[in-house]
Amino acid sequence: MDSEHFGTRAIHGGQHPDPSTGAVMPPIYQTSTYAQAAPGVHQGYEYSRTQNPTRHALERALASIEGGTHGLAFGSGLAAVDACMKLLSPGDEIISTNDLYGGTYRQFVKVYEKYGLKFHFTGMDSVEKVASLVTPQTKMIWVETPTNPMLNVVDIAAVAEVAKKAGALLVVDNTFATPYLQQPLALGADIALHSATKYLGGHSDVVLGALVVKEEALAEKLYFLQNATGAVCGPMDSFLVLRGIKTLHVRMDRHQENALELAAYLRQHPAVSRVVFPGFEDHPGHAVAKKQMRGFGGMISFAVKSDSFEDASKVVSAMKVFTLAESLGGVESLAGHPASMTHASIPKAQREESGVTDGLIRLSVGIEDVRDLKADLDTALSVLL
Ligand SMILES: *Cc1c(COP(=O)(O)O)cnc(C)c1O
Repeated sequence: MDSEHFGTRAIHGGQHPDPSTGAVMPPIYQTSTYAQAAPGVHQGYEYSRTQNPTRHALERALASIEGGTHGLAFGSGLAAVDACMKLLSPGDEIISTNDLYGGTYRQFVKVYEKYGLKFHFTGMDSVEKVASLVTPQTKMIWVETPTNPMLNVVDIAAVAEVAKKAGALLVVDNTFATPYLQQPLALGADIALHSATKYLGGHSDVVLGALVVKEEALAEKLYFLQNATGAVCGPMDSFLVLRGIKTLHVRMDRHQENALELAAYLRQHPAVSRVVFPGFEDHPGHAVAKKQMRGFGGMISFAVKSDSFEDASKVVSAMKVFTLAESLGGVESLAGHPASMTHASIPKAQREESGVTDGLIRLSVGIEDVRDLKADLDTALSVLL
């Protein structure tokens, strides 16, 4: 089935009817343990931290849609990040994109620096910047693209060359793009990472993380860590993400279509000073996005004219169809204020350097009727006119 096109893999990839009943959807195997006929004689399942059939079904689906050989599911996106960090040892260095998801940044700096890992944060608009930070201790390069919330685009294939030369693993956080729009493993990454909480789950009803790899030895190391440190997801959550994946391509098409229209609308609005959207031809990452992505995604960031917290706050509070909330990637439209919400843990000076100013609003454009979304933005922005 894995040779099929994306839409077919999203629904069937790695899946087969349940062998015991023929159930088309894998049952939610809500069990911690499995009967053994004699000591060590079992059907491949001993204990649910190590193996669970519902989680396995999800992991096979993840591998299929990312074009990898092995998938691993975790209790959250940050638990998946954590598993990657545990591949490293004290003294190792990591080069990372600078406008990183706030929680990833916090884990790097507040948790792993004290275990002796050294992080270098840089803009990755030029691959030379990345290459200049490589030392003999560089063991991992961490890319998020498009980035959150500035939607900067990193050339994955170019960074993969640097990683290969350095003998470092390349991890790509593919949460914003999703495997439908971007396939990091095919572009040279070693690990594709997801907060499946977002587009893969797609319905804002589950927190889950995932890794997909294409190499057996790396998969084995990660399976060891998954079991040894235990941050697995439960069967119910695995089921929800599996179900979400089945409509990923259909949802993404609508997310994108709506985002394209709203970005154009915001750009001509007199109360808006800048709109960040990789679909614009003058977006600095447009050419790379066009080369490595199937579309430009459903995320838009924009700043109100004054760039003040007060005005941004007025606008997001006046929205009715967009809900003011953290997170993204669900069927419903959400608005966020990065400086006070998702990115509050990043120091102000550093935040503003990467463009996350107090007046910046991030939209996760949902799949509602775009006419209602536009009318909602229109009403909300009119409070500034
Ligand atoms: C949300 C998010 C994460 C963290 O995932 P959780 O599921 O919230 O732990 C990591 N990276 C990106 C880009 C995210 O948006």
